[in-house]
Amino acid sequence: MGSEPAPRERGLTLVGAGLAGSLLAILLSQRGWKVTVYERRGDPRIKGYESGRSINLALAERGRHALRAAGVEDAVMAQAVMMRGRLIHGLDGSLQLQRYGRDDSEVIWSVHRADLNIALLRAAERAGATIHFHRRLHTVDFDAGSARLIDDRDDQPHDIRFSTLIGSDGAGSALRGEMVRKAGIGERTEFLDHSYKELTIPPGADGGYRIEPNALHIWPRGHYMCIALPNDERTFTVTLFLPNHGRPGGDGAPGIDPSFASVRSGQEVRALFARDFPDALPLIPDLEQDWEQHPPGLLGTLYLDRWHLGGRAVVLGDAAHAMVPFHGQGMNCAFEDCVALADAMDAHPTLAQAFAAFEAERRPNAAAIQAMALENYIEMRDRVDDPRFLLQRDLERALQERHPHRFVPHYAMVTFMRIPYAVALERSEIQRTILEQATQGHDDLSAVDWSALDRIVHERLPVLEDAR
Ligand SMILES: Cc1cc2nc3c(=O)[nH]c(=O)nc-3n(C[C@H](O)[C@H](O)[C@H](O)COP(=O)(O)OP(=O)(O)OC[C@H]3O[C@@H](n4cnc5c(N)ncnc54)[C@H](O)[C@@H]3O)c2cc1C
Repeated sequence: MGSEPAPRERGLTLVGAGLAGSLLAILLSQRGWKVTVYERRGDPRIKGYESGRSINLALAERGRHALRAAGVEDAVMAQAVMMRGRLIHGLDGSLQLQRYGRDDSEVIWSVHRADLNIALLRAAERAGATIHFHRRLHTVDFDAGSARLIDDRDDQPHDIRFSTLIGSDGAGSALRGEMVRKAGIGERTEFLDHSYKELTIPPGADGGYRIEPNALHIWPRGHYMCIALPNDERTFTVTLFLPNHGRPGGDGAPGIDPSFASVRSGQEVRALFARDFPDALPLIPDLEQDWEQHPPGLLGTLYLDRWHLGGRAVVLGDAAHAMVPFHGQGMNCAFEDCVALADAMDAHPTLAQAFAAFEAERRPNAAAIQAMALENYIEMRDRVDDPRFLLQRDLERALQERHPHRFVPHYAMVTFMRIPYAVALERSEIQRTILEQATQGHDDLSAVDWSALDRIVHERLPVLEDAR
């Protein structure tokens, strides 16, 4: 299947013009491919943006690098809001800023999903891609090279012919579903027993931000949490993460409360905020309406054994490796996929070879960031205000200063560098053991044996160079 070299003018058919699909359409059109994209939703430039997913997203270096490669970084960054670190809101109203990096060169950026998607769609069309909206992929006949799309406005089918399909149709990918049906490519989704709801902090009476704009706000509360990211129009999108089901305490085990099972009505959510997020409550005037109007969003990790069918079809982004959002890397990773796929298509004579090389490079790295994203939920909701965690962060900073090319903090490797995620995971595990062992039983760093630690760092952490 698909071992012939593919002439670029024969064309590629992309399914999904979300974040990855529209970026990939730019990169491939710029390289001379004839690109046609089919998108389920309507054109967001005409009727506004409909999305069941988060309103804003954290953009980091991996994503920025891909935007740069596509020539759209400046347009996107013009509307991005800088986030210097986590601003932790204690239950007592205390505030503590934990910087992400060493200075303002190591920060992340809050971007609006709709604005970003629209900027990418425009650039894709400028680069030569053709985008058809209101076309939902329904079924595929891989052998015949034909597919059926549906216009959900009138349920009318539209049949197309294709030579190669690229699935950028997100976590619920229809193309992946068809690939599973055709060839059993090993799909498994593990849902988290937690979901989320989005709420809004509007601008203040003076039209400005009501809380510090240049931070990612976190209200950590043990097994649940709230976060808030700034938007360029002076609002914040608040996301409340809660377990789906509660459990009464007893027999030595702590109970699980609140949960989506115990907080159902607008009144119950108000009571929850009054008790657990008292400083956030007055900032969200439409709390009850937001709560009642938005359904909870599911969170899960999608594992897929094979990402392509010869040179006929390949998936990327959430369609290949949806992850929980706690490292803020799903889009960043999807954008990195786009560059990797376009590069692989440049480097290999056939699409089958290019897709195989792409999968071999990206699958282990997707698995690594999926694992780190799951771990980061526990860190964000439960550890960021724990004194042992804070002491380990102090030591981490000290070791970074002593060994800037060897001991690079976990967050920096994932967020400010472009080394493979799998390398970041491996080194993070070594570093975590060093930090835990060196701080065990200590309240401060006065008893640290620096020369022993320096030796361990040299032995276990080779010099780290960023990707070029
Ligand atoms: C609450 C939350 C917060 C997040 N925060 C961050 C963050 O801070 N930073 C970050 O990097 N990532 C974040 N993510 C992850 C990020 O949203 C995804 O990784 C990213 O959207 C993946 O891009 P994609 O193009 O693969 O999929 P999507 O953006 O989901 O795009 C898929 C597109 O395909 C279309 N489509 C679907 N089915 C069909 C079909 N059958 N036919 C045609 N078209 C179809 C859809 O309409 C959509 O336009 C977050 C996710 C969630 C849920």
